[in-house]
Amino acid sequence: MLRLSNNEQPLEQRTQFCVRDDDTSFFTTPDALELAYGEITKWGPVSLAVVPFHRAGTSKGVPERFRGRWSIHPLHENQALVSHLRLGVAQGRFEIMLHGYYHDEMNHRPEFTGGEDLIQRVSDGRKYLEDLLGTAIRVFVPPRNAIGPKGLRAVVLAGLHLGGTAGLRKGWSPFSTRSWAVWRCLRSWRKAGRVGTPWILDLGDHREIPGNAVTPSSTLQQNEAIFQSALSVTGVFCAAAHYWELGSPSIHADQPTVGEQLQCLIYQARSNPQVVWQSVGQIVSESKRVV
Ligand SMILES: [Zn+2]
Repeated sequence: MLRLSNNEQPLEQRTQFCVRDDDTSFFTTPDALELAYGEITKWGPVSLAVVPFHRAGTSKGVPERFRGRWSIHPLHENQALVSHLRLGVAQGRFEIMLHGYYHDEMNHRPEFTGGEDLIQRVSDGRKYLEDLLGTAIRVFVPPRNAIGPKGLRAVVLAGLHLGGTAGLRKGWSPFSTRSWAVWRCLRSWRKAGRVGTPWILDLGDHREIPGNAVTPSSTLQQNEAIFQSALSVTGVFCAAAHYWELGSPSIHADQPTVGEQLQCLIYQARSNPQVVWQSVGQIVSESKRVV
């Protein structure tokens, strides 16, 4: 019989697990989200990185018939999805995170690596989603996992945490002793031949939660090795996927589909009493597994 990650162990003695999904937007149907996460959210919450005003550029999350039109699509124009998300949040199945503002830029540059009005975009996008979906947002996930100093500054000014990692070249202050302490810790971990980053990174003015991509180019073995490394230090493991990609095959001939890889990781999390499954926002803001 399946052993659930219930209260057999005190919370502080369990590895923290979460699921992050990027790209929910005007273009998402409730059916697509349910197909991806209907079963999974029976076991634990899924943290959705939501785009408030998706611009129909070239992202794969944009349906082909809209791709390259560059029109702007506010989330509230998809009322069926709004109702579905509000219900899911109220039931504790979904957490809402902020995933850029427009997501796609006409100059094809990742939205939060430059530009002039990023502070406004974070502030307005957050308020819009919070009002529309009736929830509080704690985490910002940059489109294409790319951020720069201006983007990170906007996130910090809003009092949000980062889903993903910036690093010294992409926004950590080189004048902060915390930045260098985190950097040294990660360097010695890698020098010791360890994989992944199984902690929350505390940069003083914000925290970051590294994601482990579950995509066509990932392998189950690599993610399992990172999960094991998180278990070895009673750390943190965040699986990061896209609902629109779960049916895709792996680019590796010997690997299961993206969705099957995610299912395997989830099975390992929920069948292990040493693991507690929480939302991304709860882990990044409250975790004590911090460097
Ligand atoms: Zn995205």
